[in-house]
Amino acid sequence: MKKITIAIDGHSSCGKSTMAKELARKVGYVYVDTGAMYRAVTLYALRHNLFAADGAVLEVALREAMPQIDIDQRLVDGKTTTFLNGENVEREIRGLEVSNHVSPIAAIPFVRTALVAQQQKMGREGGIVMDGRDIGTTVFPNAELKIFVTASAEVRAQRRYDELQQKGMPADYADILKNVQERDYIDSHREVSPLRQADDALLLDNSHMTIDEQNVWLMEQFEKATK
Ligand code: C5P
Repeated sequence: MKKITIAIDGHSSCGKSTMAKELARKVGYVYVDTGAMYRAVTLYALRHNLFAADGAVLEVALREAMPQIDIDQRLVDGKTTTFLNGENVEREIRGLEVSNHVSPIAAIPFVRTALVAQQQKMGREGGIVMDGRDIGTTVFPNAELKIFVTASAEVRAQRRYDELQQKGMPADYADILKNVQERDYIDSHREVSPLRQADDALLLDNSHMTIDEQNVWLMEQFEKATK
């Protein structure tokens, strides 16, 4: 059977990566988490003091540093894991500090050009499930299956709150909701590759769906697309 390209885009914290990973595992495709790549560049920028005091990115310095930023994703104990210049940064890139700085980094055109080129190279052969914000619109406009996932901001904030509580990490619902809304706004209003549903993407609003229901729906779409 021909291996297709699957693009999963959508808002932050709506379970895109969980569903993308599960689908890739079931059908034996490679999973690529493009958000992790933007997060890794952000971590590099934080570590090298490439943010001004007001939160603006020092773009000239970051542009010079780009050739020294090597990001790759490998399986570690069966899990997709992100490496920055050979160091496993999977845990660090998920923290609130990176979450709060990633959207301005992802809005910079030269950052997007570099990462999109790398993503297109990774998916050249098909057999890939890639999740992000611009996969169906910019990275793989010809993907055979495109899904756009969303849920209300309140539902997404509640899910993240519950997740942090379960991990015993401090969480404030109002702060989380604010972060979700701010990221939605920046991601949807930036000039380069703003977050939007591709014309030929299937919309999945999972506000009132269980993970199992979502997985069943996704497998049905996969079967239709590969028939
Ligand atoms: O998916 P995740 O929440 O980890 O992505 C982190 C951030 O990276 C997003 O809020 C967005 O600003 C950016 N991003 C992007 N394009 C992608 C993937 C992520 O701009 N393809």
